[in-house]
Amino acid sequence: MKTPLRIAIGSIFQETNTFLAARTTLDLWRNTFIYERGDMFKLRDSDSEIAGILAALAQCGQPVQVVPLLAARCVSGPINSAECYDTLKSLLLTPLREAMRDGGVDGIILPMHGSMVAEGVEDVEGDLIMAVRHIVGPTVPIVATFDLHAHFTQTMVSHATALLAFEHYPHDDCYQTGEKAVKLLLPAIAGHTRPNMAFAKVPILCGGGNGRTSGDWHAKNCPMAYLTAAARELEKQTGVLSVSILHVHPYNDLPEMGCGALVITDNDPDLAAREATRLANEIWARRTEFEPRLYAVADAVQRGRGISGGPILLVDTADCVGGGSAGDSVSLLRTLTELGVTEPTMLMVVDPAAAQACAKAGIGGTVNTTLGYTVDAQWGAPLQVSGVVRHLFDGEFTYSGGIYGGTRGQMGLSAVLQIGPFQVLIMSRPTYDWADEQYRCAGMDVRQAKFVGVKNPMNYNMAYAGVAKASFIVDTPGPTPATTRHLPYQRMQRPFFPLDESIPNLQPTVYVQS
Ligand SMILES: [Zn+2]
Repeated sequence: MKTPLRIAIGSIFQETNTFLAARTTLDLWRNTFIYERGDMFKLRDSDSEIAGILAALAQCGQPVQVVPLLAARCVSGPINSAECYDTLKSLLLTPLREAMRDGGVDGIILPMHGSMVAEGVEDVEGDLIMAVRHIVGPTVPIVATFDLHAHFTQTMVSHATALLAFEHYPHDDCYQTGEKAVKLLLPAIAGHTRPNMAFAKVPILCGGGNGRTSGDWHAKNCPMAYLTAAARELEKQTGVLSVSILHVHPYNDLPEMGCGALVITDNDPDLAAREATRLANEIWARRTEFEPRLYAVADAVQRGRGISGGPILLVDTADCVGGGSAGDSVSLLRTLTELGVTEPTMLMVVDPAAAQACAKAGIGGTVNTTLGYTVDAQWGAPLQVSGVVRHLFDGEFTYSGGIYGGTRGQMGLSAVLQIGPFQVLIMSRPTYDWADEQYRCAGMDVRQAKFVGVKNPMNYNMAYAGVAKASFIVDTPGPTPATTRHLPYQRMQRPFFPLDESIPNLQPTVYVQS
């Protein structure tokens, strides 16, 4: 052990969606951030895992020298190009190799998502952990943090010292996850603990609609709240260092995906495997609770009309940028138009060409254009629209809270186009909707609308709490549907829930450290 302790931090974070046709390139990463080496410290005042790690190291009571490698984050998107991943991997590993020549490191923390895929590399996080392990050798502790929607593999379990995931969905505990990583790492470096982990999983692939981790866990649509409470209870047991519950991101088509529990004990492999298996069996027992109730758009509109006032949220989960979708669906606009909806309605769509057309027409100008499906055409056809430009702006905003808290969001050139009763926010680039940033920064007050389209499976509950009169998850096409029954899985092997509602004699798959 060195004085000061040398702790390396390296982060490559993206949730991939393999059902998309395009490829993620470095441009999309740069649209969020790629901070090399010491630029990482720009995140010190954010809500990120890295901010939590830096704060916890600064307060740990011993001198620490941080070795910043890389902090890169990208909005969810398609499979990363091989060139893109090779570049990011090299940006992380090169400074680590230099640090090893320059006196070595005592420990390393790797904040990642856990569901990133690149061309030729299905398990990016496993690949990174293994590469880091080969550089630092067998004894340096590696702690990796993940999104709760991670897909844990045997490679990750074998090569890391400890894995832990966010506890909350919506993800408002990234900073605290960083702090917990430090609490796992420092005793392991000092030899006060010997982390040993096991991960057990069951084949459940469900969208996030019923995946919130807070609320009434007695309710039949809140399985993650129950499981999260069970995890915290287990952490009180002597010898248990950390428990994570994983609700796997279902929009990748990979073998052996599933939801599960990861238990880290202090040098007690049997306890870790036993408790992880027990929790995985609990997850399977509650599988039907993960499937949300869906409404046809016409049914949701009819029900919404029966409720006085607004806004009524139409939850278009299938086009969720946070799950990797392009955000370019106009399915909801098309159906609402066909239904003859006349009430004031707010919707959003990514369409850079239409945003340009609005800018060319100017505020007050009339625009005739096609709208939608310009990025990913496989989910529907563009819609011909005519409208009046109400607003034009640069699409910049700052996230307050959550997974990107404190960082900038960049929608690019954006416009609000009035198409009959529909006010449509047209954006040039996809951004994650932690809350209602997109509508808010466009000056759109959802309280003025009867119907509001939102494109996420969970965050709307928090963003519109006390504002929305009701919400309906609508059954629309797209790469992030509320139920995975609609997706054409090929690599993920049957049987799995919900396609297979029961599986006789199912035993959880268990990964242990060798
Ligand atoms: Zn997540």
